[in-house]
Amino acid sequence: MDQMYNFAQVANNCSQYSPYSSGMTNGTSDSAADCSCLNCQNFKEHHCQLDLYDKINENLTKYSSEL
Ligand code: SF4
Repeated sequence: MDQMYNFAQVANNCSQYSPYSSGMTNGTSDSAADCSCLNCQNFKEHHCQLDLYDKINENLTKYSSEL
C-alpha cells in the first residue's frame, strides 16, 4: 500500500493544505515529512472535504506514468 506516501505527495502539491496548528503535534512541525492530508484540516472522515485529493492524486499519477 502506497497510501501514506500519496497523502504526503498530494498535500505537497495542494494549494489548500492547511495543517493543524503546530501546538497539536510533537515538535516536528514545519518538517516536510509532516506535510500530509492526514495533518490537514480539510481532511475529515477519511476524505478530503474539498474533493481535491482525487484530482491531485490523479495528476500525480498521470505525471509519473509519463516519465
Ligand atoms: S486533505 Fe484535501 S485540502 Fe488537505 S492537503 Fe489533502 S487534498 Fe489538499
